[in-house]
Formats: sequence, C-alpha cells, structure tokens
Amino acid sequence: RNQALLELRQKVVPHGVSQVHPVVADKALGGKIWDVDGREYLDWVGGIGVLNVGHNHPKVVRAVREQLERFCHTCFQVTAYEPYIRLAEKLCQSAPGDFEKKAFFVTTGAEATENAIKIARASTGRSAVIAFRHSFHGRTLMGMTLTGKAQPYRQNFGPFAPEVYHAPYPYEYRGVDTQAALEGLQELFDTEVSPERVAALIIEPQLGEGGFVPAPAEFLRSLRALTQKHGIVLIDDEIQTGIGRTGKFWAIEHAGIEPDLICFAKSIGGGLPIAGVLGRAEIMDAPLPGGLGGTFAGNPLACAAGLAVLEVFAEEGLLERGQRLGEILHEGFRKLQSRFPHIGDVRGLGPMVAIEIVQDPSTKEPDPVLTHRVFEAARERGLLLMKAGMYSNVIRCLVPLVVSEAEVHKGLEILEQSFEAA
Ligand code: PLP
Repeated sequence: RNQALLELRQKVVPHGVSQVHPVVADKALGGKIWDVDGREYLDWVGGIGVLNVGHNHPKVVRAVREQLERFCHTCFQVTAYEPYIRLAEKLCQSAPGDFEKKAFFVTTGAEATENAIKIARASTGRSAVIAFRHSFHGRTLMGMTLTGKAQPYRQNFGPFAPEVYHAPYPYEYRGVDTQAALEGLQELFDTEVSPERVAALIIEPQLGEGGFVPAPAEFLRSLRALTQKHGIVLIDDEIQTGIGRTGKFWAIEHAGIEPDLICFAKSIGGGLPIAGVLGRAEIMDAPLPGGLGGTFAGNPLACAAGLAVLEVFAEEGLLERGQRLGEILHEGFRKLQSRFPHIGDVRGLGPMVAIEIVQDPSTKEPDPVLTHRVFEAARERGLLLMKAGMYSNVIRCLVPLVVSEAEVHKGLEILEQSFEAA
C-alpha cells in the first residue's frame, strides 16, 4: 500500500512539494510513526520541529476533542473565544522582558514572519528590512524574500519584495565569526541602507533549515544594542527554535536579551496548525483594526491544543527533559565524531543538535553524497532523519522531547550503524 500510494502521489501532487521520505504514515504516537504497511520508525523529524510534546499527546488530543464538541470555528475577529485569549496571555507571560506584551495568532510560520514585518513597518514608518544569509523565514512573498537560502525556496519565483537586505550570519565553522558578521552588517549600513531607514532586523537565534547553526550570544547582544541605538525593531524568529526546542522555552533566553517581537509556530500547536507574533504592546498596537488576523487565524481547536501543550511542558518538566536529551545527543554525536572523521562539526543548543558531514575535516568541503547515504541507511534501519543546510550536508535532530533516554540511545545506535554502512 505504501508503494501504491506513493505512485499515486507522484501523479497528483506537484514536484514542488518535496518528499523527504518515501513513507506514508498510518498512525503515530510519542516519538514513533507507523507506515500503512505496519513498518515502525523512530521519528527524529517530528513533523519538522512541530512535535516537541510528541505525536498525539493524550492531553492535546483530549483538549482538541473537548473544544471540537463545543465549536470549531467562529473567526476570532467576529466573536472572541476563551482559548485564544488565554493562550495569548500565557505566551506573553513566557517571553523575556519586563514590559507589557500582546500576542495574536495566524496559521503558519510564514504568515507570522510576514505579519511581524508589517507590524514593524507600521510602528516605525520605515520600509527597509534586514535578514541574514542561510536563513529561512517561509514560502510567501515576504517569507521567501527574507530567506537567505536561495535554492529551492526562491529559485524562479522572483521578483521579490523590495527593500530587503541580507547580512552575513555568524557561522564559525564556515569562517564567519561574530566580528566578521558584525562588520558585514556595518558594511551593509555604510553602503546599501542607512540604519535610519531600517524598520526591522529579523534573525533566527539558531538557524533551522540553514543547518542548525546557533548565533553566538555576544552576536545577539550586539544586535540588540545596535537595533536599540537606531530604533530598529528586533524580530526573533523562534518558529523552529521556540517552545522548548533548545532546552529553554525561547532560544533567545540563552543570550539573555529581550527582542521586540517573537515569531512562533510549529510546536505550539502540538500538531495543529497555529502560529503567531508576540511582543511589545506599543509596537504590536501599531496596525489599524482589521490589519491583522484572518478567517482561520487562531483556530479554536489549535488554541485549545496550544494551552494543552503549555500544560504538558509544565507537568512533564519538558525543558529539563529536553536538556537531558540534548546532553545525551551531544555526547553520542561526539562519540560518533571520534569514530567517523567525516563528521566535521557537532553543534546546537540543547536538544536542537546536528552534525555537519564533510569530505575531509581539514578542508571542510561539504559531503552531500555521504550525507544522503547515511540518511537513507538510517531510514532503512528504522530511523527518520532530516537534512538541512546550504549544501544539504547537515543531519539535524528534532526528536520529540517526551521520548525515553533508551529511545534516544537506540536512535544513536542506528545512526552509528548507518555511518558504518554508508
Ligand atoms: N521560520 C523558520 C525559522 C522556520 O523554520 C520555518 C519553517 O520551517 C518558517 C519560518 C516557516 O514556517 P511555515 O512552514 O509554517 O510557514
């Protein structure tokens, strides 16, 4: 059945919707997926960072079912409902900064970044935006324009939104340290766009699609100082890093800074589609009534799921669990690195960890071919992984934070066997 469905998929779904694994899911629970032929997989992709509380967490399922029995749609702009208001309140409380905050919801991460830019422009009256190379911010017009990784996200899709500039992201393993990245930003200010024209600067505190590269804390602190100095809105894109993925609720907390706006999505809905923006109340209030929102934005089922996700985090101590799983993963990956010199770099915050695979650690030449072989070998042995990075030579780990330590060790064993086989 798996094969037959994939053949039909080929016929009826366009190539632009890529297929990471030739697997058709039938059911999923915790950190596992079963395909339609009954084959079991350890899921270290988590729907691309959506399942920090795992597949079908019973608490999330119950909350959604209870909400469904009441109503599943009114449109929040038409008649408000409690789960939306409560979730906005809780997320505002979770974010760093002792100032008044507001939050609202949309449905996807790309809409969250789009809206953050709209809000920054409305609040500053400026138009320019700075994003970073290697970044990913979504597939809408503004999302793909912000995105600093051309292929495949921008290829053949121009013209792009105007007034977006890209600065170097600090990627030490590839020779761009904090100093070099700050100099690159200064050069942009000197030659292309004066800081007084810039409405917003948007950054992922750790690259997601771009290869799991964490921005050094001192770089993020410098950005905070620079944006404050020039009245630029600092947007923290936590769509992949947020909701405990890095061992803290927001990855920016590792750097101890307070962004003006935070974009979130993915894991907040525990598998249901919800995203949003939160931040300083005076900035968030800049757009006129009706300028934000959408028919399905902040769907009641997804808001109910979001509240359940926050409860699961508190009740099951998922931040601490995530930190522990992160330690096991880092240790396991470092052991692998000592056996397999093609693992050039092991990096990431907490359980958001990845390995970068190179032809030779002295040249650091990316090895996408070997990466693909390892990735395929892992699936054949029952472990679903996902690649990342400009050169598709990074294997990233987005393991649900609810899985047992034994399950993480099992995944690491499979990965070791996959390197042996590749
Ligand atoms: N921003 C970041 C950092 C992401 O990782 C993603 C998705 O991977 C997005 C934005 C876009 O989110 P979505 O795919 O929900 O539109």
